[in-house]
Amino acid sequence: MPIRFSTPPTAPVPQATCLDCGYRLTGLSRRNCPECGRAFDPADPTTYRGSRRAALWHRLARPPTRIECWLLALLTVLGLLEVSANDGLTVLFIGTFLCGLPTAFLLVAAAVIRGLCVALDTSRTSSDGPTRRRHIGRWFVAPMCVLLVASCAVYPWPLWVRFKLSQSAFEEAVTRFRENGDARPRWIGLYRIEGISSGRDARSTYFTTGHNIIDPIGFVHDPPPGPETAPRPTTWLTPQWYTFEE
Ligand SMILES: [Zn+2]
Repeated sequence: MPIRFSTPPTAPVPQATCLDCGYRLTGLSRRNCPECGRAFDPADPTTYRGSRRAALWHRLARPPTRIECWLLALLTVLGLLEVSANDGLTVLFIGTFLCGLPTAFLLVAAAVIRGLCVALDTSRTSSDGPTRRRHIGRWFVAPMCVLLVASCAVYPWPLWVRFKLSQSAFEEAVTRFRENGDARPRWIGLYRIEGISSGRDARSTYFTTGHNIIDPIGFVHDPPPGPETAPRPTTWLTPQWYTFEE
């Protein structure tokens, strides 16, 4: 791709370095950073780090960094795990809510601001080298994470996935509880169960997984004709299984 700059080339100041990666840009025949591919214009001191400080938006005009992407992905995974846990107010839940959510919000906001800065800086970004274009995938991390988390508001699918992976173990536990009253706290599938009890209608089986302050929450196995008594079903997982909250 031809490099188009409006101003005639002049040598950058001797201490010029790349705005993104800090690579020394003096003595180069090309106008892309050899390290990260970011284009610079020797005649435009705002396109490299030199004696004059480049405007903040020039420095932000780059894809999210690798650390930003990994951190956002990690927080998203933690959030989805929390949605799947159905164990109430735990330390992980409070930590995710108080620290993870604001951090994730800032990372998404940073990605949006970076995108706006790149849009402002298109005359330069069109000259970026191939090394830099390889990082294009990083632009997809924030929208993907937002989409995954937002989809949980429609239906808590991580909870459904984790429950489906554990369903056969739960059904075995229902049989054992009904036959010999086995209600020991233990792992059932991918869930740690605090206890098992029988519903008021004596037909349904309650698996407690945690508490919301003092009220137990968990899963209910409810064979047909379906729920008759409180507590109310919160999320239906299969025709015979739902989550409960007292
Ligand atoms: Zn660079």
